[in-house]
Amino acid sequence: MSSLMKPFILLSSAEQQLLLTSLGQPAFRAKQISRWIFERRVTDWSKMTDLPASLRTVLSDEGRRTVPAEIVGALASGWATKYAIRLDDGEVVESVAMKYDYGTSVCVSTQAGCKMACAFCASAEGGYIRNLSSWEMLSQVILAGKDSEGRANTHVVLMGMGEPLDNYAEVITFVHALREHLGISPRRVTLSTCGLVPQMQRLAAEGLPLTLSVSLHAADDITRSKIMPINQTYPVADVLAAMHDYSRTTGRRVSIEYTLISGINDSPEAARQLAEMVKGHFHVNLIPVNPVEGMGWEAPGAARVEAFRKALESKGVNATIRRGLGLEIDGSCGQLRRRTPRTTK
Ligand code: SF4
Repeated sequence: MSSLMKPFILLSSAEQQLLLTSLGQPAFRAKQISRWIFERRVTDWSKMTDLPASLRTVLSDEGRRTVPAEIVGALASGWATKYAIRLDDGEVVESVAMKYDYGTSVCVSTQAGCKMACAFCASAEGGYIRNLSSWEMLSQVILAGKDSEGRANTHVVLMGMGEPLDNYAEVITFVHALREHLGISPRRVTLSTCGLVPQMQRLAAEGLPLTLSVSLHAADDITRSKIMPINQTYPVADVLAAMHDYSRTTGRRVSIEYTLISGINDSPEAARQLAEMVKGHFHVNLIPVNPVEGMGWEAPGAARVEAFRKALESKGVNATIRRGLGLEIDGSCGQLRRRTPRTTK
């Protein structure tokens, strides 16, 4: 493909119409194509069956793509499918489609790599490469956008590779684009952050009803700094204050992600400290740490995880143990990375 040949969704509507008329087609075909891409999540010209066959052939043959990304690998496991998605500059990011009772949710990457260097996280391993554009994020939702029965996804989670609030402007544009192009309301979007306090404050003032999920992982600064270097800049008390501020200002739910690591943050005392801090305010999701090759962290056994949950519950804190969704395909939290899976679709 010529580097000058923009993918279809990156063209302005005037450019789209010009493209179609230059191919001897009526301008309304542009709308028809947009409907295939955004409403039906179809990105393959050959499958746009109400376009003339000759047009589909020309568009395929000239190498024009519909979106600025393509699936180069996929691994499915029960109710989760992980996609390796190659961007125009060759960077590969990962997205995961997960089936729930309420519909399908797509976990989207917001950066290639990540600067935050959380100790248990595979995404941070190769460092930070670049921010993704809002169109690259939207393309992930379109590409990973349908379940095996052909239903379009209903929810989006910004919890893939990268720290969404470190790519603030593009992420906000993406949230607006989700509503405009795919009909996914911000109420169905969850943004997960490691606790960038100034951006959390800015987000609270944005007027978008996003659900916020904050990775806490420890209730004391010494332990949290061991797990998350960002804690040296934004310590626990500041993160907590920003969470209260977000919840007050937006009226939206804020939840806490707490990755349980054996011998690090899974003691009864850690549970007591966490409970004191969050009770009456925030739901806690407990996630036994996922094994990541070469990292050396271990998850506590099932009994210890349950004891931690019960300790929180006994203090009046709602806590859920998150199932290891997609664990066997490295599609769980902290396991998305910049690589192409060996298995291709
Ligand atoms: S857990 Fe999130 S913020 Fe932390 S390094 Fe991984 S991708 Fe970045």
